[in-house]
Amino acid sequence: MKTLILSSDDEDIKKAAEIIMHGGIAAMPTETVYGLAADALNGNAVRKIFKAKGRPMDNPLIVHISDISQIYPLVRDFPEKAAILAEKFWPGPLTIILPKSDIIPVEVSAELNTVAIRFPSHKTAQKLISMSSPLAAPSANLSGSPSPTSFRHVLEDMNGRIDAVIDGGDCEVGVESTVITLAAEIPTLLRPGGITVEQLEAAIGEIQISDAVTNPLAEGDKAESPGMKYRHYSPKAKVILLDGGNDAFYRYINKITDKDTAVLCYSEDIEHINLPYIPIGKRYDYDEQAHLLFTALRKADEMGFAAVYAHCPEKKGVGLAVYNRIIRAAGFNIIRLEGTENK
Ligand code: AMP
Ligand code: MG
Repeated sequence: MKTLILSSDDEDIKKAAEIIMHGGIAAMPTETVYGLAADALNGNAVRKIFKAKGRPMDNPLIVHISDISQIYPLVRDFPEKAAILAEKFWPGPLTIILPKSDIIPVEVSAELNTVAIRFPSHKTAQKLISMSSPLAAPSANLSGSPSPTSFRHVLEDMNGRIDAVIDGGDCEVGVESTVITLAAEIPTLLRPGGITVEQLEAAIGEIQISDAVTNPLAEGDKAESPGMKYRHYSPKAKVILLDGGNDAFYRYINKITDKDTAVLCYSEDIEHINLPYIPIGKRYDYDEQAHLLFTALRKADEMGFAAVYAHCPEKKGVGLAVYNRIIRAAGFNIIRLEGTENK
């Protein structure tokens, strides 16, 4: 199939909306990462997303809306806490899981009795939704690979596999939305993102953090969020995380003699390391790290590295989202270093 390249002009967004209303699929920019969109109420169209991405059918999709009133037909219940979160964080990088209504096709909810809803702040995404329908949209990458944060990334993975792509430049946040479920007894964070645990708790009180946010699922455990059980965000290069203080980190990597090895590092590290490096922002600037992470992982492959070592990120604020993505990219391969000085 030939993929139609579209700009973010209204006329082009309208073309994408028409494609979608005829049962096609199109990639759209959002503030988090690029999404691969289909009419959320058309199960056949939604199936095409799974095929284009190679996504397992048991991994449900997020439904994107462009006006709060669109949520009511999609859910069975809209509790007060959902209203508070929507008021505070929508439009923005927060996905709320609620009991689903009967109009949600099984392809979207992967046979769960819940549905994930998000109201993105990106103007192009909002226009596309309002010209078409609520849109089911996972990230517009091949399943398992790093999410696309630029138009070029989408083309790398999806050219020839989807009907159209809208060029909206680079994504601002750079990691996928925060996912919280309000369909559980206690509100539970399933995936960290641009809206932090601290912000959520300030709005609705204490929340639980699913164990799967920072740990691999144990054998036989049921995933609260099916996406958490899959290998994810991985470049072809092997990713290895090093957990320890700066001195221990520099000592470890400066002893590495393997060829084709690079370090994913903070800008403060550059002067201390002798290997090729790919910077992912300043040590404590978690927003910058989130913004750069997926581009850096893709760059490792473009530059032909076989392995990349990375300093373990902090688990605070948006840093928790960076940690969550990078430990999955590394397949939970973490080397604990002696000494935690200067951490
Ligand atoms: P993606 O759109 O690729 O960023 O993935 C969406 C994430 O939300 C995946 O981890 C899904 O498993 C998760 N998700 C979507 N819908 C639900 C749901 N109804 N219940 C639990 N997790 C969900
Ligand atoms: Mg994804």
